[in-house]
Amino acid sequence: MNFSEFIETYAAHPNYHAPRGNQLNARSWQTEAPLRMLLNNLDREVAENPEELVVYGGTGQAARNKEALQQIIKQLLILDENHSLLVQSGKAVGIVRTHPEAPRVLIANSNLVPAWANWEHFEKLKKDGLMMYGQMTAGSWIYIGSQGILQGTYETFVACRKKYFNNNFQHKLLVSGGLGGMGGAQPLAATMAGAVFLGVDIDPERIRKRLQTGYIDHISYSYREAVDMILRAKEKGDVISVGLVADIGDTLQNLLIDGIIPDILTDQTSAHDPLHGYVPNAISLEEAIRLRRSDPAAYRNRSMKSMARHAGLMLKLQERGSVTFDYGNNLREMAKQGGEPNAYDFDGFTPKFIRPLFCEGKGPFRWAALSGDPEDIFTTDKALIEAFPENHPMIDWLIKAGERISFQGLPARICWLGMGEREKAGLLFNDLVRTGKVKAPIVIGRDHLDCGSVASPNRETEKMKDGSDAVSDWPLLNLMSNTAGGATWVSFHHGGGVGMGYSQHAGMVVLADGTDRAAACISRVLYNDPALGIFRHHDAGYELATDTLHQFGMELRESYEI
Ligand code: NAD
Repeated sequence: MNFSEFIETYAAHPNYHAPRGNQLNARSWQTEAPLRMLLNNLDREVAENPEELVVYGGTGQAARNKEALQQIIKQLLILDENHSLLVQSGKAVGIVRTHPEAPRVLIANSNLVPAWANWEHFEKLKKDGLMMYGQMTAGSWIYIGSQGILQGTYETFVACRKKYFNNNFQHKLLVSGGLGGMGGAQPLAATMAGAVFLGVDIDPERIRKRLQTGYIDHISYSYREAVDMILRAKEKGDVISVGLVADIGDTLQNLLIDGIIPDILTDQTSAHDPLHGYVPNAISLEEAIRLRRSDPAAYRNRSMKSMARHAGLMLKLQERGSVTFDYGNNLREMAKQGGEPNAYDFDGFTPKFIRPLFCEGKGPFRWAALSGDPEDIFTTDKALIEAFPENHPMIDWLIKAGERISFQGLPARICWLGMGEREKAGLLFNDLVRTGKVKAPIVIGRDHLDCGSVASPNRETEKMKDGSDAVSDWPLLNLMSNTAGGATWVSFHHGGGVGMGYSQHAGMVVLADGTDRAAACISRVLYNDPALGIFRHHDAGYELATDTLHQFGMELRESYEI
């Protein structure tokens, strides 16, 4: 197939689709893998808005524009194993000389010198065609649809259930805003954890997408109808999820007036981006889209004020008994800037629930079957269950995931694994490819939200024990370790999750193609990657991380011998 035939078949804008099967289009699996994952990120089944190359998270893109995307595709089709492609904010900018165990693609997205690191400056550069917003896994080509966040959301809700509800969500109501790319995982995660769920989104299309993929049970356009449904289910002890088309602030206000106090309250609107992500209160979605174009400053101002009101209502519900937490969208910061001085009076989810997992090097490990055959993922599920018989939470999750998750794009799976486990799982997958038990290679990656790959003081590194929340040497060390270790593609981004100026983070994906080279790269990368989380948390004074460090013999060397 020549280049134009390839584009016509797999990348005729906006109809993107990754090739399936075990025939190569590129020169090796090392470049076929990023090519397939890039196209998969933009597949209509996966991406929120392929027309704009937006994958998820407000404006998180996979490539800067159509032309830049085609150029990346072309370079990946012809690149050999002694060179690597440089991608700067979604555009191919050069090829460097490397070697077969080096990453094939080196990606930097949305990075700005700190004093210029704000949305205003970024928007100007974006308008001039010089940058794109990469979010986390959008610009690093390892987004796998709502399932990607499903496990993390499920882990968080289960941690909340254990901490506050005696590990039982029966008759409990969880309320949240935002049912977009990531937020869309909340209804399924909540019902899998046993809670009744009310999700609020201003855009009906977003809720319909969750209905189509089986992530939510019902859509409603009426507050009264939605509330009746959830109250009935709550009383009977049934588990259902309802998506209400409305403004989240208005809905929280109504719940307060009606004395309906959610047991658990959080939010996943795209608050990190007040211009493109959050829709201000008291205007319709259509009016909002018009205002965004005609007067961005007025839009941003209304958005921040609405977020102040929204966070204020969350605080009131917290006072009335809701277990309330920020779910990583920077809502508290935007609300504070919008006029709610006490916005930080509810906690972030990392210090509240996730940090102990980070201390054991645990985080959102994920993989995708490049064959496109769901059976390959079921084979990996089975292999993991056999290899880790003692890991009951993982087995529980894999069984539930196998039953309830419909794949989007290339079949994929996610489960949180820690130090030691990730390397073991990666080598196991490589053997499945080597022995032909799966039909094509597998890629292994993770979210940038991980134990040692991100500095984000309002999210993953909030309230670190030693006050080192804003130190971003750690994600840089993570990037360098994974590059030196031989990941297949690596990335460094700015602003993911919480917006410009608030985070820096690194991504990695490593290929399991059944070769000895892959086994060596997997072994190094899947050791280095969680190790960074343990070093980071040990250095910050977390005892659990120090115990894990000792358990795996990861101390700095004592003896001095030449
Ligand atoms: P998205 O842009 O795809 O979805 C956001 C949704 O919020 C949209 O559907 C939008 O219609 C809705 N919305 C906006 N304003 C609203 C309002 N006033 N009332 C009701 N609905 C409104 O974004 P996403 O990928 O779902 O991510 C959501 C947020 O969560 C982002 O800020 C992202 O950075 C953050 N996030 C958190 C985690 C985590 O693990 N905690 C992970 C990824 C993303």
